[in-house]
Formats: sequence, structure tokens, C-alpha cells
Amino acid sequence: MVRAPKTESCTVHFPRDNFPSFSDLQRQEEQGDLLQPLLFLALVLCSMSLYFVVSLMDPGYVEHDEEEKEPVSDEKEAMSSQETLNLRLRRCGYCLLKQPMRARHCQACRHCVRRYDHHCPWIYNCVGERNHPFFVAYLAVQLVVLLWALPVAWSGLDFEHPSWAWFQYNLLLLLSFLVVAVFTVVMILLLGCHLYLASHNTTTWEFMSRHRISYLRDCEVENPFDRGIFLNLWQFFCTCRLIAWETLYPEVGGHTV
Ligand SMILES: [Zn+2]
Ligand SMILES: [Zn+2]
Repeated sequence: MVRAPKTESCTVHFPRDNFPSFSDLQRQEEQGDLLQPLLFLALVLCSMSLYFVVSLMDPGYVEHDEEEKEPVSDEKEAMSSQETLNLRLRRCGYCLLKQPMRARHCQACRHCVRRYDHHCPWIYNCVGERNHPFFVAYLAVQLVVLLWALPVAWSGLDFEHPSWAWFQYNLLLLLSFLVVAVFTVVMILLLGCHLYLASHNTTTWEFMSRHRISYLRDCEVENPFDRGIFLNLWQFFCTCRLIAWETLYPEVGGHTV
């Protein structure tokens, strides 16, 4: 077997001293200081785990009509309160189930979702009453990872010897930096929006479509579920059970929700 001789034109040599591409994390790893690289890795794994949690978990699907459910204390409370307030739950036109207040049918998931926020194509799942707090936690951890990755990517670039060869050699790192920067801005906006919504006990759907939602449009107060920022955030992050929103709704009499 005869091997073709290597030609000089096929190989481009970059002196290591002129084009250092070691980031701060790589340098610390090589020097045996593993604390920050391991912490960064743990954060990445945490954000990946949260991604799969919000993507795979039940966002709060309405599985049965309220009347057909087993008697659970919260549901009983909700039903008795319904009778008191004379609220009539609307029946979904797609799955034909009675929708609890703040639920909405998602065409992509083919389910009604309790305290519907939005259907997220990034996680390919709805964001609803069950997974909304995990979704916000995912955004927060992801933002920390991105904010840490920005200076790490920047530290791998060397601007002392700018040239076309330098640009080719650092192209991948430059693109990575730009992608991380764009995602960071998006993540800041998303996290800010969802923290605002959570602190006011409202959802993206309710915020964007108030004029189409009867229980908000016909209500005398701006937001019937708002209990103040602290209580709203406590309820959002620290309440594991599903909430019968009908019980918190001011008495309006005879409305279809
Ligand atoms: Zn439905
Ligand atoms: Zn959905």
C-alpha cells in the first residue's frame, strides 16, 4: 500500500503562542483547580435535568369532568364554592370536558391544561399549573449558565494578533460567543416576563388575551387572583397542590367561566 506524500499546501500551522485558545476554565482544569469547572458542569447538568422535567412532566392536564372525580378535599371545596357563587364551568369544544377556571385547551397537546400559560415549542410541551414553577427555575439556571459561559468564551479569544488566519482559527469560538450572547438576552427577557407574571398571579395567555377571557373581561377588579407580590410568589413556587381558582374568584353571579 502506497501512501500519498503530504503536501505543505494542505497543512496550516498555527503557533500555539500566537493563537492561544485556552479559556479560563481550561486553564484552571490544567492547573488542577477543579472547583469552578466542576461547578460549571453541575450547573449545566442541572439545567439539562430541569429541561427534561418541564418537557416531560404533566403540565396540569384536565383528565376528567369535575363531577366524575373522586372526592378530593380541594375539589369538593371547589364544587361547593361553585354552587355558592353560581359559576358555570365552560365545556371544552375539543375534548368535551368541563374546564376549570383558568384552564385552556391546547391544540398541540390535545388536552385542556389547568392555569394555561402557553405552549412552548422549545420544550414541546405546555406550560401550565404543574410545570410553570419548574419552567421559571429552568430559565433561571439556564441564565446563570449562559452568563458564566459568556466570559469563558471571551477568555478563549486572543485579540493581540488579529489577521485573516486568526479569524479562521477563532471562527468557531466567535460564533459560540455570539450564540451565547443572543441566548442570554432572550433568557433575560423571558425570565423577567415570567417573574413579572408570577408575581402578579397572571399567565401569558391571560395577560395577552384579557379581552377574550370572560372571567377577566367581566370582572370588576383588574386581576381577581392577585393577592400581592409576596403571597403570589409564595403560592406560585411553594404550593404543590392544584388550586381551585373558582374558590378565589370574587362573587359575580351567573357567569360562564
Ligand atoms: Zn379541551
Ligand atoms: Zn400544549
